[in-house]
Amino acid sequence: MQYVMKQIECFCGSQINFNDCCKRYIDGTQKAPTPSALMRSRYSAYATHNADYLVATTHISTRKQHNKKDILDWSQSNQWIKLEVLQATDNTVEFKAFYLDCQMQMQIHHEHSTFKMEDGKWFYVDGEFY
Ligand SMILES: [Zn+2]
Repeated sequence: MQYVMKQIECFCGSQINFNDCCKRYIDGTQKAPTPSALMRSRYSAYATHNADYLVATTHISTRKQHNKKDILDWSQSNQWIKLEVLQATDNTVEFKAFYLDCQMQMQIHHEHSTFKMEDGKWFYVDGEFY
């Protein structure tokens, strides 16, 4: 991965270093402690085109609805601009992800996601879209 050696600000907008933020969860060196931490790391995984992580952090009950190649294609065809976490509860996160599509048009993905803990790890289950 091209970002490993660089000190860069995390993609999720936390304003801390990628290595000290979402990368720890994407690497699997630490577990995301909350749904919003997992959600942020999944956004960073889109920004770094890490479809494996996106599949792995989708709950087993809904994983088959998500095709790894489609995730990869979608992550690569967009430019990920920023993330805004609007609100979070014990098991939900509402967020807006801003990106440029392949026509360089700004798009906003507004989602209210549900998460579930399984064996001490958080997983993305599904979301409502606005
Ligand atoms: Zn982050």
